[in-house]
Amino acid sequence: MRFSQAMSPIDPVSLPDLAHYRSHGIDRITAWCLTPFCCHQAVLTFEELAAHGADEATKLLAVKPRLKCTKCGGLHADLQPDWSRRCTSPVARSSI
Ligand SMILES: [Zn+2]
Repeated sequence: MRFSQAMSPIDPVSLPDLAHYRSHGIDRITAWCLTPFCCHQAVLTFEELAAHGADEATKLLAVKPRLKCTKCGGLHADLQPDWSRRCTSPVARSSI
């Protein structure tokens, strides 16, 4: 008897870059400001990210520190790929 080894489809070593998401049909991200009482949210296309120096080989996690809120100027933002077929919403963390 043998167990399947296909447990981890995501290799943590190779973080997804913009080209990876584009291959899945994703061409934009949703970003939102983490500043309390701001909650500004915006959709950024990869073209707009490219205007800020990101290219196809840029890791999505590397984009996050470059984001700046256009509403409050805060540098604390979070983002996620805009999965049109998946309907996931960010889970609000409970504050202590
Ligand atoms: Zn903000």
